Amino acid sequence: MRPLLSLLLATSALSAASQQDVTALFDQRALVKPITEIEGTLSDGSKATVYKIVVRSLPTDHAMGPWSPATLKDKGGYWEDAIDKKLYRVDAEYLKLLNTRGWNMFEVDGTVHRTKDRTEFDKVARQELGGWSYDDALKSGVTNSVIELQPLEQIVTIFLPKNPQASAKLTMLRQARFSPRSGLGLSTNGVRFFPPEPVDRITAFHNIAPLDPKGGHTGFGHEYHYHRAPSVMDNDKSGKVVGFALDGFAVRGPTEADGSKPKNLDAIHGHDHDGLGYHYHVTDVWPYILGGFKGPLGTASLGDVDVCDATKTGGDGGKGGKGGKGGKGGDGKKGPPGGGPPGGGPPVAK
Ligand SMILES: [Zn+2]
Ligand SMILES: [Zn+2]
Repeated sequence: MRPLLSLLLATSALSAASQQDVTALFDQRALVKPITEIEGTLSDGSKATVYKIVVRSLPTDHAMGPWSPATLKDKGGYWEDAIDKKLYRVDAEYLKLLNTRGWNMFEVDGTVHRTKDRTEFDKVARQELGGWSYDDALKSGVTNSVIELQPLEQIVTIFLPKNPQASAKLTMLRQARFSPRSGLGLSTNGVRFFPPEPVDRITAFHNIAPLDPKGGHTGFGHEYHYHRAPSVMDNDKSGKVVGFALDGFAVRGPTEADGSKPKNLDAIHGHDHDGLGYHYHVTDVWPYILGGFKGPLGTASLGDVDVCDATKTGGDGGKGGKGGKGGKGGDGKKGPPGGGPPGGGPPVAK
C-alpha cells in the first residue's frame, strides 16, 4: 500500500500545484471574486470539477479602441481585407481603397461613416442575420459604415474544466457547442476569446468591424472580446500562457518559450511537447485563436452563477434563447435576432 499511497499523495500535490498555477495566471484585477471550484457537467454530459471564474469582460491591462477613425485625419483599428486578406490599419488610405471598390465610407468633409449608437448597431445584426440583401439594407439599414460600439462592463461566469480531458476526436469550431456568453475561452485578463470574424457577412453590406490594436472590439451585449490575441498583436515571443480554452486546455502565445514557431500543430492549432501538456497557440493567420477543441467543454452564463451545465449550451450561436444561455442579450434585454455579435457569434462563417 505504501507505494500507492505515496503515488496518491504525489498526484494530489501535483494537482494542487497546477490548480494554484491556473488561479495565479489570471490577472486578479480582472476577477470579480476569487476563482473557486465546483462540480459541474461538461458538454459531453460527464461530471467534472470546474473552475468558476467571474469576470467583468473589460481588460485591466490595456486601453480599448480605437475602432473607427472619426475623420480621414485619424487612425482607427485593424481590419483584415476581404479581398486581399491583408491586415490594414483603418485610415484614410484604406477607406479610400474601399471607395475605389464602389463603397462610400466618408463625407466630402472627411467625416467617416460609423455606427453612432446601439440602435444602429442592432440594425447591423438584423440585416446580417435576417437574410437582407444589400439593397434592402441600403434603404433602411446600415451600410458603408465602420461598425463600432462602446464597451460596457458585463459580469460573466465562465466554467473551465480543472483537469482537461482529451476526447477521442477533435471537435472543429463548426461543430462545437459554445455560446456568445462563453466564447471559445478566456484570456488571463478576463476578456473572452471569440471565433474568427465572419468577414464575408459583414462586407456584404459594405461594412467593416475593425479590431483595436489588441485584437478586440465590442459585441451586442456591449461585451468587449478578442478575435485576435493581444500577444499576437504585440508580437510577443515569450510563449507564455495567455488564456484557457473552454475545454480547459491552456492557450499560449504565438511562439514557444524560446521564440521559435510552434511545430506539428494539429487541425485545431494545438499540440503537446516538452512536458507542457496539450496546449493551443494563437496565431496571426486563421484560426487566429483556436480552430476547435480537444476535450469536452465547460460553459458560461451572464451574471454570478453557481450552476455549470454545459449540455444546455446552445450550439447554434444563440437563436433567441433556444437551448439556453446563448439567446439572452446583455443587460437582461432580449438580444437581436441570432444573438451573435458581428464577427463574433457562432456559427463561424468561414
Ligand atoms: Zn507549443
Ligand atoms: Zn466580434
